[in-house]
Amino acid sequence: MTFLLAFYAFAIGAVVGSFLNVVIHRYPREESIVFPPSHCPDCNTNIRWFDNIPILSYLVLRARCRNCRVPISPRYPLIELANALFYLAVFQRTGAAVAFIPIAAIISMTIVLIFIDLEIQILPDVIDIPGIFIGLLIGWIGGDVAADLVLSADILDSIAGALLGAAILAAIILTYWLIRRREGMGWGDVKMMAMIGAVLGWQSVPAVLLLASITGAIIALPLAIRSKEGFQLAIPFGVFLGLASLVILFFGHTLFEWWLRAFVPH
Ligand SMILES: [Zn+2]
Repeated sequence: MTFLLAFYAFAIGAVVGSFLNVVIHRYPREESIVFPPSHCPDCNTNIRWFDNIPILSYLVLRARCRNCRVPISPRYPLIELANALFYLAVFQRTGAAVAFIPIAAIISMTIVLIFIDLEIQILPDVIDIPGIFIGLLIGWIGGDVAADLVLSADILDSIAGALLGAAILAAIILTYWLIRRREGMGWGDVKMMAMIGAVLGWQSVPAVLLLASITGAIIALPLAIRSKEGFQLAIPFGVFLGLASLVILFFGHTLFEWWLRAFVPH
C-alpha cells in the first residue's frame, strides 16, 4: 500500500513536472499557459497524448520530435524526473498527510522560479506571492509533520521568517543603491526570500542567505570577470536562493550537525 502511494507521489510529480516545463518555456515568451495545447516549438505540430507522457515519451522518441525530428531538450525529462523524485522524497518524509501538498507545491514553484530567473532574470509575482501564503500555511500546519525536513515550526516562525528574509534583502538592495545608485538585486528576490522564510522559518533564513551567497559567488565571479559587462553582469540571485532553500529543506539538519561538530567545542 505504501509502495503504491509512493509510486503515485512519483507519478504525480512527473505529471506536474510536465506542466512546470510548459510554464518555464512559455512564461518568458509571454505565451498563455493553457492555450494552445503542447506543440513542437520548431514545427508547431501538436504533440499527441502518447508522445506527451512525462519522462517516458522522451525515451521512446529518442529525444526527437516525431514529426520534424528536431532534437528535444533534455531539460524537459530532467525537470519531470527531478520534480517526481522531489515528490517521492517528500512523501517518504510526510506519508499520506495533508502537509505533503503545500510542501510539494512550494518545491515545484521553486523549480519554476529557478529556471525563469535563469532565463530572463525575473521572479514572477504570480509565483512568489502565493508562495508566501503557502509558506504561512505550512507554518500553520506545523513543520513537525515531517521531522526530517527543515520547516517552519508554527505560524509565528513563518511570519517572522517572511519578515526577516524580506528585511535583510531589502536592506542589502537599499545599501547597494545608496553606494552605487543602482539596483543590485531586484524586488523579486525580496519576495522570493519572504516565501522561503515563511516556508523554512526565521531560524533558517541566515543559513539560506549564507549558502546562496557562497555558491553564487563561486559560480558567478569567474563569469563576471570573463564577461565584458564585468560586475555589471546581471546575476540571477533567485537561482541561488532557490537551490539553497532546497538544500536547507532536505539537508538542513545534517548540515547543522556538521556545523556544530566543526565549530562548537565539546
Ligand atoms: Zn517538430
